[in-house]
Amino acid sequence: MKAMKNYQFWFCTGSQDLYGDECLRKVAEHSAKMVEGLNASGALPFEIVPKPTLIDQASIRRTFNEANNDENCAGVITWMHTFSPAKMWIIGLQEYHKPLCHLHTQFNEEIPYDTIDMDFMNENQSAHGDREYGHIASRMGIERKIIVGHWMDAKVWKELADWMRTAIGVMESSHVRVCRVGDNMNNVAVTEGDKVEAQIKFGWEIDHYNINDAVDVVKEVTDGEVAALMEEYDSKYEMLYEGRDPEEFRRHVAVQARIEIGLERFLEAGDYHAIVTHFGMLGGMQQLPGLAIQRLMEKGYGFGAEGDWKTAAMVRLMKIMTSGQKDAKGTSFLEDYTYNFVPGKEGILQAHMLEVCPTIADGPIGIKVKPLSMGNREDPARLVFTSKTGSGVACSLVDLGNRFRLIINAVDCKKCEKPMPALPVATAFWTPQPSLAVGAQAWILAGGAHHTAFSYDLSVEQMVDWAACMGIESVVIDQNTEIRSLKNELKWNSMYYLLNK
Ligand code: MN
Repeated sequence: MKAMKNYQFWFCTGSQDLYGDECLRKVAEHSAKMVEGLNASGALPFEIVPKPTLIDQASIRRTFNEANNDENCAGVITWMHTFSPAKMWIIGLQEYHKPLCHLHTQFNEEIPYDTIDMDFMNENQSAHGDREYGHIASRMGIERKIIVGHWMDAKVWKELADWMRTAIGVMESSHVRVCRVGDNMNNVAVTEGDKVEAQIKFGWEIDHYNINDAVDVVKEVTDGEVAALMEEYDSKYEMLYEGRDPEEFRRHVAVQARIEIGLERFLEAGDYHAIVTHFGMLGGMQQLPGLAIQRLMEKGYGFGAEGDWKTAAMVRLMKIMTSGQKDAKGTSFLEDYTYNFVPGKEGILQAHMLEVCPTIADGPIGIKVKPLSMGNREDPARLVFTSKTGSGVACSLVDLGNRFRLIINAVDCKKCEKPMPALPVATAFWTPQPSLAVGAQAWILAGGAHHTAFSYDLSVEQMVDWAACMGIESVVIDQNTEIRSLKNELKWNSMYYLLNK
């Protein structure tokens, strides 16, 4: 699939000419050293580009508009070295429409007790220059990330790195294209939504095709191409025949190989980043795409089952937000399946009928061919595995009629207590924070779906920041969630969005 752009972030230092050229020379020198240090930290996933010091309304406006128009610029980091009168930022901020970070830092880490004088005080004023600037951004209601700390502090690097990935999610959202070869499942409410509003809010183009348009492309895949992909499957996965005739088994797997190549070709031709299917709308497909979809997700495509385009787009975005992340543990579409209520072992078994992304797998991955009661097609091949342990975020984007709400649950992923030899699908198992009882209650109160976009590699804060940047409501369920205050939060939010429509 198409790789992400070579994104950069601009570093804009604010000042003014009140303190003379010598002061401005030092401002520029400090700023250059800071950008150099941040880039050399090795902690940031994208390059920071230094920009000339901004000292008046015209240069601020021009720089912000250049940032808007530069397609590689994914956001601007602002910092006021000295006092930078906030009124001169108004027009630039008004016209700027990309992610904004306010890095509230200063050049020196420690107060220079022995030498500090009034010149130093005039020159190193971010403690009040940044407040002046911050005031106007707050008065104007501008969404931005504020990061506080010394620029050489690893905690600051981590926050900046996380924000950069959130900014990428915002930038990439504007051109996500979802291909639907299956509609929303009849009578299901929670996976439905307003596609026009989604395009207005998120930029998503959500198109539809007759699945047989894709089947035509699948049929054109050559036997040679299928054989080559089967070789790759053989090298990566263990064929778990489980008493089935190997030749018959491999014929079923080859059907998925053909679907994988054909669907990818279909998506590439239409420049799509995500796909939804529906087991009830398979047309000429021989099998419900299982292994094929799992492999497409692994390549970075978003997916939602039963026509769930909201989750498909979220999976795509969360995959691109984490793309290239060192030691990434994976991102997948998942569904809440069944509970374990045994005291001390509470949790939710996550799976789907087939389509779980192998990026979240822990250990070996096998292929099984088993009957599927849904969909009325031949037995589909699917990848089977269990998933990694550790913390993650489970997200559900729902349409409440007058607004979108992103529900973000911090979850603790665990190993299933025992193997499940009769269950022929990939699984994960997690305990929602703060507990199964409170987490599930909160999720249901907030209107969360049974489908989720899940990642081990994103934090609650990143998803909250993303939602804020997109101008939608977010509801967090984590260690601090308590039902009484959550109910109030939901009521207050409904008033806020009524007033701020
Ligand atoms: Mn489902």
